[in-house]
Amino acid sequence: MDNIKKAMRQIDSGDNASNHRKPIPFEDFLKEVLANPTGTIRNVFQVFHDLFKAYIGEGVDEYPNDPETIQYVSYDCSKLLVEEADHPFFADRLFANRLVNHVEALRSGAQQNKIYIFDGPHGCGKSTFLNNLLKRFEEYANTEDGTRYETVWRLDRRQLTRGEGGNETASILESLFRMQQNPDQRQFDTIRSMAVHDDGDFVEVPCPCHDNPLLLIPKPQRRQFLDELFDNNEFKYTLFTDKAFEWIFHDVPCTICGSLYDALFSRLKSAAKVFEMIHAVPYTFNRRLGKGISVFSPGDRPIKQTILHNEYLQSMINRLFSDSNQVRYIFSQYAKTNNGIYALMDIKSHNIDRLIELHNIISEGVHKVEDIEENVSSLFLALMNPEDKKNIKEFQSFSDRIVYINIPYVLDLNTEVEIYRNIFGARIDDNFLPRVLHNFARVIISSRLSLRSEAMLDWIKEPAKYSRYCDKNLQLLKMEIYTGHIPEWLSEEERKALTAKRRRRIIGESDNEGRQGISGRDSIKIFNTFYTTYAKSGELIDMSMLCKFFNAQKDLKASIPDGFIDSLLLLYDFSTLQEVKESLYYYNEEQIEREILHYMFAVNFEPGAIETCKYTGKRVHVSEELFDGFERRILGEKVENARRLNFRKDTQKEYTARTLTQEILVAGTPPNQTRLFQSLKERYEYNLKEKVLDPFLENENFRRAIKDYTEEDFKTYDKKIRDDVTFVIDNLMKRYRYTEHGARAICMYVIDNDLARKFTKP
Ligand SMILES: [Zn+2]
Repeated sequence: MDNIKKAMRQIDSGDNASNHRKPIPFEDFLKEVLANPTGTIRNVFQVFHDLFKAYIGEGVDEYPNDPETIQYVSYDCSKLLVEEADHPFFADRLFANRLVNHVEALRSGAQQNKIYIFDGPHGCGKSTFLNNLLKRFEEYANTEDGTRYETVWRLDRRQLTRGEGGNETASILESLFRMQQNPDQRQFDTIRSMAVHDDGDFVEVPCPCHDNPLLLIPKPQRRQFLDELFDNNEFKYTLFTDKAFEWIFHDVPCTICGSLYDALFSRLKSAAKVFEMIHAVPYTFNRRLGKGISVFSPGDRPIKQTILHNEYLQSMINRLFSDSNQVRYIFSQYAKTNNGIYALMDIKSHNIDRLIELHNIISEGVHKVEDIEENVSSLFLALMNPEDKKNIKEFQSFSDRIVYINIPYVLDLNTEVEIYRNIFGARIDDNFLPRVLHNFARVIISSRLSLRSEAMLDWIKEPAKYSRYCDKNLQLLKMEIYTGHIPEWLSEEERKALTAKRRRRIIGESDNEGRQGISGRDSIKIFNTFYTTYAKSGELIDMSMLCKFFNAQKDLKASIPDGFIDSLLLLYDFSTLQEVKESLYYYNEEQIEREILHYMFAVNFEPGAIETCKYTGKRVHVSEELFDGFERRILGEKVENARRLNFRKDTQKEYTARTLTQEILVAGTPPNQTRLFQSLKERYEYNLKEKVLDPFLENENFRRAIKDYTEEDFKTYDKKIRDDVTFVIDNLMKRYRYTEHGARAICMYVIDNDLARKFTKP
């Protein structure tokens, strides 16, 4: 029994939300406004924007100091569209940026009298997207952070009748009303039981259009009112200057609130008394009831009754004002989503008519309910399939009221992989060598991109020079840009040429891509076939399996560009080689520094001299051997003698003309921070890395040691080999997320395919 009581008490106290949602007097509302101006003064567009801010945040820029940035950043949309959703929607980076930009524009007030149509091919997931978005919006709008207030009138019978004391012409209704004041209990109960909105002395009249209570302040006084309400703070400045807040000065209340105000004012002769009857209540959203959010499917029949009213409330109002025409409580279905969201799922069948009607309303800004004009200000969203465009083609004037937002197939390979992980489990990665899973996504995405990209060709004038890492259509490079990554293999020159203007143009091309090729649904099917074929083998899925799979898919041949898979393999080989090199490369910073300083110092002497280096304090034997060794490390093993001597001469010139005289002696620059030192160091390290594999390529022991790494036999190798093998495998695991098994496999792959030689510059 105790448990039941406790549990019931829990329900009782958990009901805070409804307490929170009780009407508060206008003056208390003003206190709320002062305490939280940005929360209480916002229209649907601002709340929608706040939803994005709360659930997506600012986004991450991977290159924060890039002067050519175009703010194409990484937004994490999982809170908005993935978490707790029945069917998650994965927004790729391109779509997320597009969406956020539109939401920004919406907030600023520039784009409000529009219908936003999400335009995408079958299987792009647009209805999932819209459902998840609306669900989050509903949820957010009902939380404290998302709460806005709307008007509810609490008409005080005592106030309204007091003034009528001497009125001899009181209507029959009025006298009925009076009887209620001196209740004959039985009659009173009858009336009470009918009165949903009747609270003893009060008649509650909700504003069906969800007006912000501040709109009840007569428009001519509103500016001054807000000026006096707020101190001269930052918010006030924003309120009076930001276009997003214009509505608070320009909008008028709905006709019901407006006529109630007028009727009350003429009765009470005091605005203050009218405001005593104005209350504020949180705007509650409920998609299923069509409150604040309505979503129409093409099959939903039009409602017969287009004008809504409330007879009971109307009669109560009539009684109070003893004149049946002063306040007419009628409104349309659009009122229910005023200041909210009105959405159409697909422009087909009945939704075509709805769209046309919406268009007329938007063009006019108001629409007629009988002879009354109703303002409509909602966020209008719709979804559209490519073939349905013809349904609205004949309405030419539509174009200026419709904003299309493309929602194509995923073009960002990281998002494509996220989708596989979501469906097949995050553990799928364990069955792949690193980057092979992403390469699967690359093949799928290649089918969705245009073959020829003017924007890419404007940037990379000679695609052939990258033929060792990239396909001839530069799709592999474009995919990197779409993920927000600028590959390291680009030349310095082309990296610099990637200006903001070019970036905008490349990203802009995505607007026309992803409308064809392998659909979202199909890519999951294809992945399923691939994964179930190869994951069970026990071997890690590698590139040869991937190539074999796609080359055998005859029906995909037409979708995947010619030569794409070959180029993908080249890029993979190149990147793998870099990983192994990076993992094998290590240097003794001190030793390199010492060698460079000694060389800088020694070039000033003739061979044979023995001098004490003033930077290291060590004795240096200046010799042909010292020069020769260092120069070969910088310029390459096969360098001609003449080039070495020139290099030495240039170094000496730079040393005496700048390094010693200007930098070290005048500016006091430490020798290891001079320009000469830095440039020698860069070249030194680059060449060390280039050659790092050489000693191992010819060494059969090295390959065998890798193979035997986990075996007892590994102990029998000499210490140098054991150290090197352990070092490279550890690094591959730490830096590039290989498993031990994968790290060994990839090392042997590099050796067996002779990748080092394949990518050596001729
Ligand atoms: Zn109203």
